[in-house]
Amino acid sequence: PQNELQSEELLAVIFEYMGKITAETDLDKLLMILADLGKSLVLADRCTVWLHNPETHQLWTIVAHGIERVIIPEKSGFIGHSFSTGESIIVNDAYEDVRFNEAIDRSTGYRTKSVLCIPFRNSEGIVIGAFQAINKMTVSEIFTERDKEVLTLAASYSGKSLESSILRNELIETQREMIETMGEIGESRSQETGHHVKRVAKYSYELAKLAGLSESQCRLLKLASPMHDIGKVAIPDTILLKPGPLSKEEFDLMKTHTSIGYHVFKHSSRQLLRTAAIIAHEHHEKWDGTGYPNGLKEQEIHIFGRITAIADVFDALSSERVYKKAWSMEDIMTFLLEQRGKHFDPSLIDLFYQNIDTFIDIRLKYT
Ligand code: C2E
Ligand code: FE
Repeated sequence: PQNELQSEELLAVIFEYMGKITAETDLDKLLMILADLGKSLVLADRCTVWLHNPETHQLWTIVAHGIERVIIPEKSGFIGHSFSTGESIIVNDAYEDVRFNEAIDRSTGYRTKSVLCIPFRNSEGIVIGAFQAINKMTVSEIFTERDKEVLTLAASYSGKSLESSILRNELIETQREMIETMGEIGESRSQETGHHVKRVAKYSYELAKLAGLSESQCRLLKLASPMHDIGKVAIPDTILLKPGPLSKEEFDLMKTHTSIGYHVFKHSSRQLLRTAAIIAHEHHEKWDGTGYPNGLKEQEIHIFGRITAIADVFDALSSERVYKKAWSMEDIMTFLLEQRGKHFDPSLIDLFYQNIDTFIDIRLKYT
């Protein structure tokens, strides 16, 4: 058993966690930090922070990083009761209480005795989740009014930090989904069933890391690269879906997908869309200046364009298209090496070669 914390010890815990909480932008990690905070404040054996999902009418939590979310109905157990009534609960013998859901103990083999639940609200005063502390670790084994006060304080602070993290998460996820969907519009029209745009994003990210770009540049490239072929929406089906080789006129028209993509995004003041404009524009430029639309060469081609070029061709060759069969990995490697310094930036090709397993893994994972 432990001794109750003195006021100055409580303060020390709060200060220790305050820094961690403000610095954390990842929602899952934030939930775990808050759970740790709750546990340390009231000396509980376990503590979890539950969030409400209004779309599914469920509460969810995360108990460890990389492990799947635990999900329960929004009215289930003490936590569901606390969430749906907006009231705090202290229970000192769980098995004596009708609200207790024994099934959870049965499935985990853990024995719940005392429970403290505290709901928390967003800035509009709407309950968005709740803390649940289980099994007090002091001699008395019971949660007190003081525990309730202390955890309520932590909860009111948590509600605000969680709210902004949830909104941020929501924005990022929406953005990612919209970009992928836009990229897939081109993909589905050309009847490519695979995950071409997702793979190109992943290869580009890895290659950018290997090339020593900063994490934020790598992420920017990963987000924007799925849109490289967006200009293909303007290419007629007779050309896009043509089973055989294109005539000179047809290919000339096909080439305009780069400038079309560029014009779609170039007026934006958003960094992400400006990046997408560059990638759409330059992903078919070649190191030796023989690419299109502008015949740029070497460093004149933006590093994002040079990276996406390799990612795009590697993926195009390893996939079946209406106009061609998939190539063997051996043939692809020979081709890329042969194009080192012609189509592709030689130093990027070297990095690609030295780390080929990474790229093959991605290819296999997203088939
Ligand atoms: P895509 O199918 O996504 O191919 C992207 C790039 O991968 C091509 O850019 C090219 O650099 C490389 N690539 C793909 N397949 C082959 C191949 O069999 N041999 C070689 N050496 N390289 C290959 P590119 O050539 O500028 O083509 C741009 C887009 O034009 C292609 O995107 C595709 O949509 C279309 N396209 C190119 N050639 C043909 C064709 O013969 N028939 C049809 N129907 N479409 C074609
Ligand atoms: Fe393209």
